Amino acid sequence: MFSLQNVQRPTVYACLFTLQKCLRSICSKRGQFDYDLIVIGGGSGGLSCAKEGAAYGKKVAVLDYVSPSIQGTKWGLGGTCVNVGCIPKKLMHQAAQLGESIQISDKYGWNIGDNVTHSWETLVQNVQNHVKSLNWGHRVQLHEKQVKYFNAKGSFQDKHTIKLTDNKEKETLITGENIVIAVGGRPRYPENISGAMDYAISSDDIFSLSKPPGKTLVVGASYVALECAGFLTGLGFDTTVMVRSVYLRGFDKQMGNLVAENMRENGTRFISSSVPTLIEKRLDNGLLRVEWKSLENGNVNEDNFETVFFAIGREPEIRYLQLKNAGVEVDIQSKKIIVDEFERTCVDNIYALGDVIHNRPELTPVAIMAGKLLAKRLFDGSNKLMDYNKIPTTVFTPLEYSTVGLSEDDAVEKYGEDKIEIFHAFYKPLEYTVGEINANQCYIKVICCSKNGKILGIHFLGPHAGEVMQGFAVALSCGLTYDQLCSSVGIHPTSAEEIVKLNITKRSGKDPHVTGC
Ligand code: FAD
Ligand code: NDP
Repeated sequence: MFSLQNVQRPTVYACLFTLQKCLRSICSKRGQFDYDLIVIGGGSGGLSCAKEGAAYGKKVAVLDYVSPSIQGTKWGLGGTCVNVGCIPKKLMHQAAQLGESIQISDKYGWNIGDNVTHSWETLVQNVQNHVKSLNWGHRVQLHEKQVKYFNAKGSFQDKHTIKLTDNKEKETLITGENIVIAVGGRPRYPENISGAMDYAISSDDIFSLSKPPGKTLVVGASYVALECAGFLTGLGFDTTVMVRSVYLRGFDKQMGNLVAENMRENGTRFISSSVPTLIEKRLDNGLLRVEWKSLENGNVNEDNFETVFFAIGREPEIRYLQLKNAGVEVDIQSKKIIVDEFERTCVDNIYALGDVIHNRPELTPVAIMAGKLLAKRLFDGSNKLMDYNKIPTTVFTPLEYSTVGLSEDDAVEKYGEDKIEIFHAFYKPLEYTVGEINANQCYIKVICCSKNGKILGIHFLGPHAGEVMQGFAVALSCGLTYDQLCSSVGIHPTSAEEIVKLNITKRSGKDPHVTGC
């Protein structure tokens, strides 16, 4: 006798799937869809777009699915920022900053004794508890806002139909009038280094590592590499950064060099102009033996590490999307999705935003704002576009670096050296005096257009740089001029006031170092 129990599960799923496909296709032809908006990816951009869409009474679905990292790390709803990016990173940065405060607290009269220790396990546990509370918070919010959440991988069947595959490989089809791709990116691994995939971790793993990383090699020299190397050094781990070319590619060169100089003075080691060529696990002590090659003279060197951490950039997470089924185009080099100023792909009902789009900053507030504005345009008659210019950002290295606008090199290239004026100063934060903290690299640079005084870029290297820069970034986007800046009254005693006090131009050749109060 025929019984459903006798039929293999995948066969049942396959039949249901075909049936669904026929029904969806009939509905689509009538112009009816299951959802007004389907968002693929529940990270910073996707969640913001979905919630905003639902706020206009639209029927919205969000799909979020996390494939484990190469080393098997998994996490929950919320995307990179919440789980393996900004949030755990800033908390670990804070842990390292606290360590620095403890070291100098005796100068402020605290008697804390000599035996101060740090527990990596406690830090990871507490950071992960916070991350889990955010995962839960996002789920609750989606429920409250009546956004349908699917913990499933999305792929295109056609331009309106998305196939959902859950972790039991069950497949379902849903249709959407508008589709937003917000799948973000994942850490890149080198293709040609033996042992890299077997033994090395990435930013997907570091924040939940169950045992202390110990002596660590960080490969890469940009945001992720320097931030993570900074907090690892601050937590007391012997940390080496392997730099292929420059520090903080894409940022102001002088500022990148100062960031690295500060890290070096605070104990991070740097191996310059080198790339790893081999990673293998030693049988005798379990350490990772790394060989690397100097790009200057071809010499090969080696050392042993407990952890090797690749921070060599990120790749768009498009591997499951089957973009060709919908006709969505990607850039040949970056493999990121090409969009116009409306965040629209080459397919009229499909949009993309956040880290997955080509030639835009990979930052959480950028993804969030783009998502919100897109939903407003789709469902609220708005015509406001995302402005990707003058985006402020902070690198949370031990000495934080925050910037908005043009770097010196870009300003020179765009306007010419004789058409810009650069004001600069080294300064000493008051709290560094009693604490006797190294302030050699606390530096500010403001780049102006000589003709009209308009400020083109602000660069601040010092404590709490992100907090300092937010307000200045607003002013810059409102067209701030040098006259307005230096006729603003400072807030004393702060590091931020040093920005409104700038009066030495680089061109003058005068000494920009600290001269007193
Ligand atoms: P994501 O947040 O990556 O979300 C995409 C989601 O889609 C993920 O959950 C992914 O698993 C899911 N997904 C992928 N494919 C599919 C699919 N086919 N179906 C269903 N779901 C899918 N930015 C800052 O502004 N400040 C910082 O301090 C900062 N620190 C960072 C530190 C680190 C270590 C890293 C790696 C990044 C940091 N960033 C920071 C960048 C920031 O995290 C990203 O710009 C931001 O998360 C991008 O958001 P998104 O929505 O584009 O993608
Ligand atoms: P980036 O693409 O910014 O930098 C990649 C780094 O890895 C560069 O130093 C690059 O060197 C190096 N590199 C690339 N390939 C190799 C290789 N094969 N061997 C050795 N070194 C290599 O990537 P990140 O991962 O640092 O950051 C990704 C994005 O995440 C950033 O653009 C940023 O938007 C976001 N982010 C934001 C943060 C914040 O807001 N605070 C913090 C962290 C990330 P080279 O210069 O020679 O090319």
